[in-house]
Amino acid sequence: MAENVEKVVIIGSGPAGLTAGIYAARAALKPIVIAGSTAGGQLMTTTDVENFPGFPEGILGPELMQNMMQQAERFGAKLLYEDVVRVDLSRHPFVVETSAGNVFRCLALIVATGASPRRLRLESEAKFFGRGVSTCATCDGWFYREKIVGVVGGGDSAMEEALYLTHHANKVYVIHRRDQLRASKIMQQRAFSNPKIQFVWNSIVTEVLGNDKVTGVRLKNVKTGEESILTIDGLFLAIGHEPNTQLFKGQIVLDEQGYIVVDRFQRTSVPGVFAAGDCHDHTFRQAITAAGFGCAAAIMAERWLGELEAKGYETIKAEFVFRP
Ligand code: NAP
Repeated sequence: MAENVEKVVIIGSGPAGLTAGIYAARAALKPIVIAGSTAGGQLMTTTDVENFPGFPEGILGPELMQNMMQQAERFGAKLLYEDVVRVDLSRHPFVVETSAGNVFRCLALIVATGASPRRLRLESEAKFFGRGVSTCATCDGWFYREKIVGVVGGGDSAMEEALYLTHHANKVYVIHRRDQLRASKIMQQRAFSNPKIQFVWNSIVTEVLGNDKVTGVRLKNVKTGEESILTIDGLFLAIGHEPNTQLFKGQIVLDEQGYIVVDRFQRTSVPGVFAAGDCHDHTFRQAITAAGFGCAAAIMAERWLGELEAKGYETIKAEFVFRP
């Protein structure tokens, strides 16, 4: 078991964590970025990223993340491909334990743990998850060549998944609980003009049907109450995300949906712990905003380390007033 004391540990390696890593590394803080066993965050399961500034022709999500990792490492950030299994923020230096048995003690902590795809929470969905029910079209779309699939959701992710699936499947139903999409206008237009996509409005999935594989879904029209069965070979969920903040429950203030509460300087309720990206932001949730929050968190962590050196933790803690 290795034991180290670090200036900054960053948990997470999406745009927020890696941007924090770049900035902290350039501030000579030698950050440890605990990237997770599946590093790179949500963009690793995306295809083209068309709205990240600096890439006029777009860039593939995994390529963008690979670039950020290289950039962070170039300035001295150390990336570890392990998962964090426990944190102790009740003492300072903070304690961070990883799945590989490493225990880090750190003066400042940046939490950039992101969010994970939301699930419908149906028993039948759990039964078929990974065997006909998926949250990643780019990962699993290939299995549905010339088949019929459903996508649940009405946001940008749902449109993106549906459009991607049209490259493989013969038909894509978008099942949405309302009669209006939440997705941006450009994504709506693309979906509406794709002849392979058909919308099923005002409907929710109440059951995933099948024996050893998915054969369809039971739908309920939320306006009429009417039930129907839609024959499909696979179901993709694109119904938003939930923050990955379970590790911090009871240790820092979370809101009622589990997002980390921060003030405008990315500070959490524990002095020395900063948060960035989808683990705290349920408003913008963009790669570029996550990167911006990561930058801000690293700058604040650096300033905070200066304050720590000058005052000591106990004084800072006694003076700290959390005003989100
Ligand atoms: P989102 O915008 O929150 O949309 C989630 C969708 O799922 C909504 O249409 C919602 O319905 C529906 N939904 C939520 N819970 C549901 C449930 N239990 N059952 C059925 N439907 C449910 O999430 P997102 O699409 O993942 O997008 C997240 C953020 O990333 C957004 O800011 C989006 O703009 C951004 N994004 C951008 C791009 C792009 O620009 N290309 C691509 C992907 C994501 P209601 O509409 O009724 O609430």
